[in-house]
This record gives sequence, C-alpha cells and structure tokens, in this order.
Amino acid sequence: MPERTRVAVIGAGPAGLLLSHLLARHGIESVVLDSRSREQIETTVRAGVLEQGTVEVLDRTGASDRVLTAGQKHEGIEIRFGDEGHRIDFTGTVGRAVWLYPQHEVLKDLVAARLAAGQDLRFQVTARRVEDAGTDRPRVLAEDAEGDPVEIEADVVVGADGSRGVTREAVTGAHGGYFREYPFAWFGVLCEAPPSAEELIYSNSPNGFALISRRSAGVQRMYFQCDPATDTGAYTEERLWEILQSRVPGTTLREGRIFQRDVLRFRSFVAHEMRRGRVVLVGDAAHTVPPTGAKGMNLAVADVVLLTEALRALLLDRDETLFDAFPATARRRIWKAQHFSWWMTNLLHLQPGASDFDRLRQIGELRTVVESDHGRAHLAEAYTGWPLPAVR
Ligand SMILES: Cc1cc2nc3c(=O)[nH]c(=O)nc-3n(C[C@H](O)[C@H](O)[C@H](O)COP(=O)(O)OP(=O)(O)OC[C@H]3O[C@@H](n4cnc5c(N)ncnc54)[C@H](O)[C@@H]3O)c2cc1C
Repeated sequence: MPERTRVAVIGAGPAGLLLSHLLARHGIESVVLDSRSREQIETTVRAGVLEQGTVEVLDRTGASDRVLTAGQKHEGIEIRFGDEGHRIDFTGTVGRAVWLYPQHEVLKDLVAARLAAGQDLRFQVTARRVEDAGTDRPRVLAEDAEGDPVEIEADVVVGADGSRGVTREAVTGAHGGYFREYPFAWFGVLCEAPPSAEELIYSNSPNGFALISRRSAGVQRMYFQCDPATDTGAYTEERLWEILQSRVPGTTLREGRIFQRDVLRFRSFVAHEMRRGRVVLVGDAAHTVPPTGAKGMNLAVADVVLLTEALRALLLDRDETLFDAFPATARRRIWKAQHFSWWMTNLLHLQPGASDFDRLRQIGELRTVVESDHGRAHLAEAYTGWPLPAVR
C-alpha cells in the first residue's frame, strides 16, 4: 500500500523546502524527498544574491532568522567597462536592496526549521518516476538508500527536483521546453582572502567578463568568462589570479588560497508546461537562467509563494481557480527574469568572434544604461526583484 500525504515534494532545494515550510503554516501536511544526504545539501555552494522580496519571505515566515543578521545588505553594484566604474545605486533609484547570504546557509535554516517542526523530510530517497499525473491521486515511485521501494500517493505532487530531476518528464516530456545555450561559461573560484571591494563588481573587459563577488570577511567568490569546455584543472593558481586581475583593471584584487573551482555552463530554459493534472513544476525543474542576473533561486522562491496560495485554495477551500491559473501567473515573472538574465549576460560578456562594431555597440549599450537615471533604475528594479505577493 502506498503511503498517503497531501503534498509530495520531490527535492529539498530552496523551492521544495520553502514550499513545505509555507504549506505547514496553513496546516497542510507534506512529505519532502531528496536523493542527496543532509550534509551534501548543506555544503554545496551555489547562489549567493537574494532579492529583497526573497529576504522578506524568509524572515517574515520564520524560515530563516539568520538572513538579516548573518547576510550582508548591499545597496548597489558597480558596472565596469573600459577603465570606468559606474555605481548602480539600488536604494537611491528604486528604494530596494539585495542581501548576500549563501544558498547553503538558506538550506541549513530551512532544514533546521523543517526538522524542528517535526516535518517529514527524507534524505537519500530518490524519486524514479511520477505516475498518474492526469488523476487526482498522483504517485511518486522512489527508492531509499538501501534500495527499498518507497511509494507515496498525494493530492498534489510538486517537482522541485532541479534541472536534472524526473518530474519534468511526467509533466512535459523529456525535452519539452524553450531553450537557449550560450557560447561561454563561468569559471568560479572560492578563495581565502579579504574582500577586494565594498560592492560586487560586474566587469566587461576587453579580455572578457568577470564578477568579483563576496562571501564573508575571509572568503571571496569570483568568476570569469571562459570557454564551456574549460577543465577546472586547466590553470595554475597563479594563472587564475592573472586572468581575474586582467579583467578588472583599476582594482587590485586581494589574493589568497583558492580552495574551490567550478565551471558553470549557461543555459536558458522554460518548460512548455508547468502542470499536468495534479503534478506541478517549480524552480529549476521548470526553468533555468544564466547566473548573470542572480535570478535562479529568487525565481524558485517566487514560484513557491504563488503555488502556496494556489494549494491553500485548492486543498483547504476546494477552489481550483488559482491552481489552474498557476502556470500562466508564474510565467509572467519567469519570462521577465529570463529576459533580464539574457540581457545582463549579453550586455556584459564578450561574444566569441565579436567584431569591432559589436564591441563598440556593446559599450554604447552600457552607456545607455549607466549614464541615464532611467537606465540605472531599470537595472536596479530588475536586479533587486519585482515585488512578490504578500505571504500569509
Ligand atoms: C554557481 C551558481 C551560482 C548561482 N548564483 C545564484 C544567485 O546568486 N542568485 C540566484 O537566485 N540563483 C543563483 N543560482 C541558481 C540557484 O542556485 C538555483 O536556481 C536554485 O538552486 C534552484 O532551486 P531549486 O530548489 O529549484 O533546485 P535545486 O537547488 O537544484 O534543488 C533540487 C533538489 O532536488 C534533488 N533531486 C533531484 N532529482 C531528484 C530525484 N530524482 N529524487 C529526489 N531528489 C532529487 C536534488 O538533490 C536537489 O537537492 C546559482 C547557481 C549556481 C550553480
């Protein structure tokens, strides 16, 4: 006999954990499964920039009581090209800000909150497939760490299982989506060093893009544009510092031991469908963005805020209106975020084979943004995030 729950959530990333936290506030029971261990989930380094709306959701719903104390508020970023630096003042232009607080810290807070509330959160349980999507009793067929089968029947199954999960196939088929790949990637490093600048630097240099980000007082995150086929072992530590330094003329980087490297490929994807019957996709399972606009995790949070209201109405009031409308409502923000991520990427990166015309046009576009109040406000509004509906 399958186990029963109201909402079966596949994936304990930001989307799945936050959804189960918000549902519990309405008294809606859920089971969350993740194929990884708690330790893996809590130590994988990914996102770091949280929109103001994301921070408000985490803080106001008790999902994280550390985001405001341990996170760093940033009221602007620097856009650099040629030898010019231009500050985009978020607070001065749109009255909003972002917070730097690593995704794995958000996950630690969410896991702790789920377990403290006695919620059903299962690690090392891998969903193999979702069945009966078209019925009102969809099922998750999974396997635990010992290889024993786990079967869960629910009122609704939510695929929060990221870009390589299994739920997408049940909803939209293996390749059912709008897709774009980019001819470059980011080489990311984590290093033990003090910050090189007060605010994030997004630099369009003649050698290619670099992002000088921050993690904490003693650990920094930096990225530079590279070929997608680059191997993480391709460069010595000395060479990595030379490349990074050459891409931020005007700033002297403070160097230190590099202890993690990764190559991050760029993809834009939006699933053709976000819902089939009672099976729904949220977060990276439904869409991915290139990281330049820092939108991935924030978009996952936005999906979850909308879906929580839709599930509350469906499961508590038997009102299907918001649930039916969920994909169309969510897609309005998804496509805005897709556009912003694509635009920031093309604005700041060196396109392979770019002609002199292409380069000079790009500098013209950068000037259109940084030399205009409206241009700066456009960037600030999108980067800090469009407002979210209030959470109850
Ligand atoms: C280096 C990097 C930097 C980034 N920077 C930013 C940033 O600054 N700001 C931002 O907003 N976004 C950023 N992102 C994107 C962000 O990390 C993702 O968009 C976010 O993690 C999406 O959350 P999610 O919960 O939808 O999916 P995920 O975080 O991918 O979680 C999915 C979960 O599902 C589990 N899972 C998968 N398949 C199964 C299965 N079959 N059964 C059970 N469990 C399964 C996985 O183990 C995982 O824990 C960045 C990403 C990377 C890689």
